Amino acid sequence: MMKNSSFLQLPEGEIKILLHVCCAPCSGSILKRLVENGMEPTVFFYNPNIYPAEEYRRRKEEVIRYAEKIKVPFVDEDPDPEQWMKTVQGYENAPERGERCTLCFEMRLGKTAAYASKNGFRVFATSLGISRWKDLLQVNRAGEKAARFFSQLIYWDYNWRLHGGTELMASVSQEENFYKQKYCGCLYSLHQSISRSLSKKAGVQPAR
Ligand code: SF4
Repeated sequence: MMKNSSFLQLPEGEIKILLHVCCAPCSGSILKRLVENGMEPTVFFYNPNIYPAEEYRRRKEEVIRYAEKIKVPFVDEDPDPEQWMKTVQGYENAPERGERCTLCFEMRLGKTAAYASKNGFRVFATSLGISRWKDLLQVNRAGEKAARFFSQLIYWDYNWRLHGGTELMASVSQEENFYKQKYCGCLYSLHQSISRSLSKKAGVQPAR
């Protein structure tokens, strides 16, 4: 048992959990903690937001590499990026944590909930909220909304940042030498990230 792997218990005494995973750095420590606490996680990779295709492939491969290492099943859901673009249409210029992100979370967690319900999982969760760049309440609202469409399904809103979770995320990422992306994932977050770094270089206060 590793240090900092605090005790975890799933709702309703469940052992199986479907974990929506956004990337290896966010999910590595979560998967490790679940396994070390005797849970049976399954990774659900559904991220139609990630742009471009090469970045999508890279992030997915890192998740697969770690899932295989710790012997956790991996579900590869088709990404349908065109549907994602339609979903967030009109919110291209919204800031991170704004309405575009709400729609993005709802789409990804909606698909996760549907898969969980169809495949005998009573509990699902996501790695999205562990990142300090994300609004945890916004993530949890999307998860709870998705769960409401399916009877008996529970969205587990565990705060992965607590009990040393943030530090563990950093140490597992370092130990596993995960590929660490520089932007959230979509085309618009990529543009915003480039613009921030150009502003920084030019010594201009960046607009977020
Ligand atoms: S910034 Fe991140 S969460 Fe927000 S819409 Fe883009 S990919 Fe989704």
